[in-house]
Amino acid sequence: MSDPSRLELPGTFTFTQSNLQAFVDCPRRFWLSSIQALAWPAAELSPLRELERRLREGSQFHRLVQRHQIGIAADALTPLLELPLAEWFDAYLRHPPMELPGEFREAEATLIHSLTVDGVVVHLLARYDLICADAGGPAVIVDWKTTARPPSAEELRGRVQSMLYPMLLVEASAGLPWGAVPPEKVEMRYWFATAPEAPVHLGWDAEKQKSARVAIGALISDILTRSSEVDFPKIPDTMQNRRRHCDFCIYRSRCGRGESPGIPHDAEEVEQRIFEEYGASEVEAIGALPVFDPAW
Ligand code: SF4
Repeated sequence: MSDPSRLELPGTFTFTQSNLQAFVDCPRRFWLSSIQALAWPAAELSPLRELERRLREGSQFHRLVQRHQIGIAADALTPLLELPLAEWFDAYLRHPPMELPGEFREAEATLIHSLTVDGVVVHLLARYDLICADAGGPAVIVDWKTTARPPSAEELRGRVQSMLYPMLLVEASAGLPWGAVPPEKVEMRYWFATAPEAPVHLGWDAEKQKSARVAIGALISDILTRSSEVDFPKIPDTMQNRRRHCDFCIYRSRCGRGESPGIPHDAEEVEQRIFEEYGASEVEAIGALPVFDPAW
């Protein structure tokens, strides 16, 4: 019999860096987007045209880079590119991520991992822009960012993505073409279209792997012990929270956090939400997503 004090998730539900980050940033946002699954884009978000433009550009950039990574010549990809895409792609060609392992290269790959939390089996999903690896390591995860303002290494280190992606890669590698990779040989690298010469490299090790497992498990456990909207409160209404979270949140008017909804800082965040809400098949229309099927 189900426990009414605990959250019932559909069997197809996956925890991702995006919905876990939403919970960390604002439990109500997690509730509205992931549990109530309110449609995106919501009518209250405007101006939609600006949002759609950012979304389209971010997706196009990822698709361009993916095509280049699988061997299509840059010359065949660049004709008719408009700004800012032309600028971003030029930045990528002039300052690509350096010293990447070369034996294996997987662009736009998805890993799914099952985890038992408080006796409940849950699924974790990570979607990688690029993984470059040699047999047994090193393995470098490259994440393309098209944000207007590149975050600092410290900000990135605090993101769920920086913990979840290397953790899953270590867990998954034994079943992947390059074989088991020790945590010390994994690196997360953020590359910025607006600052291509200053990528952020985040190292990984056994201690971080252990802490990440504990932290991700604790986050999911915390979510599962809540059951209704009241258990997923809005973040406190402060100037800082409005600036950092509510101003670009699609639920802003619903939450009474302003009449003129803003625009997300990051088109990838929007793309990720679409991915979660509509599933991988919809995202394939934006960019192909080969799915690894590792033996967990
Ligand atoms: S508007 Fe603010 S309080 Fe409401 S869900 Fe979004 S981030 Fe949370």
